[in-house]
Amino acid sequence: MINFQYARASDVTDAVRRIAADPTAKFIAGGTNLLDLMKDDVERPTRLIDITRLPLSEVEETATGGVRIGALVPNSDLAWHPLIVQRYPVLASAILAGASAQLRNMASTGGNLLQRTRCLYFYDTATPCNKREPGSGCSAIQGINRSNAILGTSDACIATHPSDMCVALAVLEAQIHVTGPGGERIIPLADFHRLPGDTPQRDTNLEANEIITAVELPAQGFATNYTYLKIRDRLSYAFALVSVAAGLEMDGNTIRQARFALGGVAHKPWRDQAAEAELAGRAAGPDTFRRAADLVLRDAKGFEHNAFKIELARRTIVRALTQAAQGTPQSQADKKIA
Ligand SMILES: Cc1cc2nc3c(=O)[nH]c(=O)nc-3n(C[C@H](O)[C@H](O)[C@H](O)COP(=O)(O)OP(=O)(O)OC[C@H]3O[C@@H](n4cnc5c(N)ncnc54)[C@H](O)[C@@H]3O)c2cc1C
Ligand code: SF4
Repeated sequence: MINFQYARASDVTDAVRRIAADPTAKFIAGGTNLLDLMKDDVERPTRLIDITRLPLSEVEETATGGVRIGALVPNSDLAWHPLIVQRYPVLASAILAGASAQLRNMASTGGNLLQRTRCLYFYDTATPCNKREPGSGCSAIQGINRSNAILGTSDACIATHPSDMCVALAVLEAQIHVTGPGGERIIPLADFHRLPGDTPQRDTNLEANEIITAVELPAQGFATNYTYLKIRDRLSYAFALVSVAAGLEMDGNTIRQARFALGGVAHKPWRDQAAEAELAGRAAGPDTFRRAADLVLRDAKGFEHNAFKIELARRTIVRALTQAAQGTPQSQADKKIA
């Protein structure tokens, strides 16, 4: 039995004041990750600060033609919101590829960004894990590492970030709005999640005394040529082995602009601008896509049980870019799968 105190924040300022006053406190939103971590004794907050009543549940158009998503918008509401379905279908598709309908009803936008790795050893408190207990060692490097990373790993940690939503946010170049004791700031999605390096205990560049208030999407939504392709062991209720979000601007069969990001392969959504530049101005086709995939994976490193991910990622990139270029996204949203 873990004892903890419970408090409800009355507004964003109150939430920040409460979290800044107690370094062992945690915000709770949908609770779909945090409560599991507490039950498994991985996280032991002494105080939960309930933020679910804060006014952060709106999806609104911005003056610059983009969309601002409140941090408490549930994943289901976001995926089915008309602005998202019509203008950012890659995001709708990625969200609907994750978890289950019940979980998506509870899970919040901010919580999804901050969900923790699904590395087996992170949840197993009987084993060493540098992310859970810095300096204790990494059990995955020589252990069961089938779901672990192949890009951006370190000697301290080879965990992946498990979110589907964040892979689409990387392609859309989302901006994360946060508030702390010093006021508001904006963190580009590309800089939000960190690589493990020698501090794998830190997943993101959000400070412990900051709250996420919103996610802002710029106007460009790649609504015609996009896809989110998720490869996993089961067709639902499973995390990605490899996923690819892609958005292209096409001129006939020529690629004017390309963005794509990988999930399930690194400690953060993985984008490679050199590989994207390789696509610009070229005719869409398997040779072009394979060259881009080879570039992304040039430094990939497999471990005993996950080396298969390198070839899987190569093929998934080629298939995702093919689908996006042809405007045949096989989107979950198109199929109305809830
Ligand atoms: C069985 C299962 C399967 C799943 N499958 C998938 C999947 O396939 N793909 C996928 O992407 N996800 C999957 N998920 C994860 C799910 O999407 C996340 O658990 C969820 O998005 C977390 O959101 P939440 O609001 O419940 O967060 P919480 O559990 O409430 O919080 C998570 C963390 O975020 C912090 N936090 C929450 N909101 C804020 C805020 N506004 N500001 C600062 N800190 C905040 C909390 O303090 C906590 O540390 C799965 C989860 C489960 C349990
Ligand atoms: S990969 Fe990271 S999360 Fe997994 S055991 Fe190693 S240190 Fe822990």
